[in-house]
Amino acid sequence: MTFRQAKWDEPIIYELGAPGRIGFLVPDVEEEIKREVGEIRIPDKIRRSEDPALPEVSEVEVVRHFINLSQMAYGVDNGPIPLGSCTMKYNPKIAFEIANDSRISNLHPLQDERTVQGLLEALYLLQKWLANIVGMDACTLHPAAGAHGELAGVLIIRKYHELRDQLDKKKEIVIPDSAHGTNPASAVMGGFKVVTIKSTPDGNIDIEALKAAVSEKTAGLMLTNPSTLGLFEEHILEIAEIVHEVDGLLYYDGANLNGIMGYARPGDMGFDIAHINIHKTFSAPHGGGGPGAGPICVKDREVDPEKGIKLSDLLPGFIVEYDDKNKRYYLKRPGSYSIGMLRSFFGNVAPLLWGFTYILALGPQGLKEVTELSVLNTNYFLKLIRGVKGYSLPYGPNRYYKHEVAISAEPMAKDTDVTAEDIAKGLLDAGFYAPTIYFPLIVREALQIEFTDTETKENIEKYAARMREIAEIAYKNPDEPKKWPINTSKRRIDTVKASHPRYVAPTWRVHILRSKGMLKVLK
Ligand SMILES: *Cc1c(COP(=O)(O)O)cnc(C)c1O
Repeated sequence: MTFRQAKWDEPIIYELGAPGRIGFLVPDVEEEIKREVGEIRIPDKIRRSEDPALPEVSEVEVVRHFINLSQMAYGVDNGPIPLGSCTMKYNPKIAFEIANDSRISNLHPLQDERTVQGLLEALYLLQKWLANIVGMDACTLHPAAGAHGELAGVLIIRKYHELRDQLDKKKEIVIPDSAHGTNPASAVMGGFKVVTIKSTPDGNIDIEALKAAVSEKTAGLMLTNPSTLGLFEEHILEIAEIVHEVDGLLYYDGANLNGIMGYARPGDMGFDIAHINIHKTFSAPHGGGGPGAGPICVKDREVDPEKGIKLSDLLPGFIVEYDDKNKRYYLKRPGSYSIGMLRSFFGNVAPLLWGFTYILALGPQGLKEVTELSVLNTNYFLKLIRGVKGYSLPYGPNRYYKHEVAISAEPMAKDTDVTAEDIAKGLLDAGFYAPTIYFPLIVREALQIEFTDTETKENIEKYAARMREIAEIAYKNPDEPKKWPINTSKRRIDTVKASHPRYVAPTWRVHILRSKGMLKVLK
């Protein structure tokens, strides 16, 4: 089967339409508003002096524009997106139906709590379920992404030591070299110095190196388990002991929760704080920057026994509680020990409801099956690709993997000069999505692959067959992969230019400025 992606010379929407053309009819509610609330006068000082430069297009132009663009793109509704670490699952449509219901989508965060009891109940249950899934005592749904949850977690670690009068000593956060880049970034944003620990050839943390690095200065440790290599940390209980010994806290990066959910809980492994990516494990869509949701949960660890402060008192944002006496859900504002507000209100409600629906639909047994299928899919794929000339498994070559696997194309690159990037283009060319490449950083020519629980056996087989075919082509005719992709709407993109702020025009504003010659640097 040959794959050919649509190629449209699609203009940006500002180049479409004509002055005065409109796409929808605004209901005439002026009279109604006057009747209900009286004359509305918008103060001059907050009025715009000019109309905003919005596109003037008809409905049919808008529909065709975005349909054309979608035909040049690839999404999880087209086929698998086996991006390791990102956990790009198919997103069941039922979840959108629930969150798009006007009884939910028309609510306002400042509405009287008594009028939003249904939504608050859903969020309350979600807090409880998530706490149960990670084995912790309290959760907040407040953070807007995994990285945001990490920052919240690091600020909690900071506050913990501050309330114990230890902050002048506690300066360092320990992170393994297999970590996602957001971990060290969050630690630094929280005001800590990062101490990196190497991984051993079997993909675990080097315990001797950890012991040498941990000291009185250690404020905490951030760990992803299973790691970004896809391997479960076999010494986690010992690691927890080493870190707790010096009064450090353990932070769990829960982006890979779909590798263990229902079978193991970070709370039982000794972690004190965990974030959960609703937009990964719990199937809310992501990509293109969100919206995401990164709830964090904590153990009821004592912070100050005399004052009766617990870790849960440090959680940020609004938390949904239940008033048993009045039989009513309500929002608890951040108390005096909380790290405060990290964004508005109680979180990104739409993805939270997608996750809520997903958990409710699957139930406890279904969530365990998600884990089983994720792990089975990874190991089945590995069985199809293991031993193929050109690929290798640099870490834990004989271990079972969890939800993902980091393969190296270093042998192929050395033998033929065909790189992980070329392999990715070869996959795109055959109508697949490329895996995550060049991450984790500790794997040379990395191809980090995650099929998730939603991919079929046939698709995994086709993907592996294409990877085998690419390896054969690389050894027979190493010039060919350098020409890929041929069948996509855009040929090979200059990745240096594409990620350089000098050349990128990601918004219409930049485009307009450039077309008017006002952004010379972009020419
Ligand atoms: C995705 C991911 C994160 C960050 O989560 P975002 O929601 O993208 O901010 C952190 N750690 C790991 C291992 C991840 O895969």
